[in-house]
Amino acid sequence: MAVPILDLKAQHATIRDEVVAAMMRVVDDQAFILGDPVGQLECKVAGLSQVRFAVGCANGTDAILLALRALGVGPGDEVIAPPFTFFATAGAIHNVGARPVFVDIDPRTYNVDPAAVAAAITPRTRAVIAVDLFGQMAPIERVTAAAGGLPVIEDAAQSIGASRTIGGRTVMAGEAAAIGTFSFFPSKNLGGYGDGGMAVTQDEALYEALVKLRTHGSRRTYYHELVGYNSRLDALQAAVLGAKLPHLAGWSAARRANAAAYDAAFADLPELATPFVDPANTSIYNQYTLRTPRRDALKAHLAARGIGTAVYYPLPLHLQPCFAYLGYQAGACPESERAAGEVLSIPVFPELTVAQRDEVIDAVRAFFTS
Ligand SMILES: *Cc1c(COP(=O)(O)O)cnc(C)c1O
Repeated sequence: MAVPILDLKAQHATIRDEVVAAMMRVVDDQAFILGDPVGQLECKVAGLSQVRFAVGCANGTDAILLALRALGVGPGDEVIAPPFTFFATAGAIHNVGARPVFVDIDPRTYNVDPAAVAAAITPRTRAVIAVDLFGQMAPIERVTAAAGGLPVIEDAAQSIGASRTIGGRTVMAGEAAAIGTFSFFPSKNLGGYGDGGMAVTQDEALYEALVKLRTHGSRRTYYHELVGYNSRLDALQAAVLGAKLPHLAGWSAARRANAAAYDAAFADLPELATPFVDPANTSIYNQYTLRTPRRDALKAHLAARGIGTAVYYPLPLHLQPCFAYLGYQAGACPESERAAGEVLSIPVFPELTVAQRDEVIDAVRAFFTS
């Protein structure tokens, strides 16, 4: 039995009528750019994230870019970020003209190490980006403390609906940062039928800046207060996402159930580490990421049995060719580099059947026990 890493067709089959009806309302309306579906989705995502404001935009990369611009980050500034993340986190820093400063991760959660953030602050630092990797929040309150008054952007592209208990209160992904950012790329937990993104904030001035920046720096048509972007969420995507959002909590619970089954099934394998979730966190398991020094052999073994896996991420950003100009050498972020050589994500998507899950479990166990 083949088991893909993700099965979007299986999910679509369960919601086809709702999604198609929502899309056809937009088609019949012929209002494709922003408009009611976008405003409604912004309200719902703001509610889910427990924030006052949400601004839809073209994709999760742009959400980070708009956030940096809204915070006034530009040429000559440094922005601290972890290198063990999707490229967009640092690409956005570069593309606003600022300099990425990479700091290492906590090897258990793969999220940024707050002590490393504190140690990297210079007079040029203008912001810090914390990434909520694989579905669990970074220790946002500790990153904020380490940032010492500098604004924190929370790249929650992989973690919409994840939460963390801070001082007895449930804090949602994106809520506690100056600006939180989401991606609706199809493989994210809330995925559109195309690209999409959103930024959330509690701060009205930042909200106004984000709204301006996504439409060429203009609030009043043809009058431009600053040079922004064409980065809007289109109504078709917002309609799809609005139809999918009521299912998100159930899908995340199904991912957690798959993760719990894997945790139990692999607990006795000494050469294999299952994901560590900080006890304060509730993960939405955008990925279920195993760790073993025999990663490449395990990946090949699973591929031979028809099981889809993925390496997120094989080369940390400080060692990417495009960032050679920053001058990092191998060894600069040792935990990120070690993780890059040992991680392997296996299928955890909500529609995974018990038979498929058992197939994955059998195949992983066979690799380590035979
Ligand atoms: C997916 C992702 C992004 C970018 O989102 P897009 O919608 O693909 O532009 C940014 N950061 C992280 C951590 C991501 O996983």
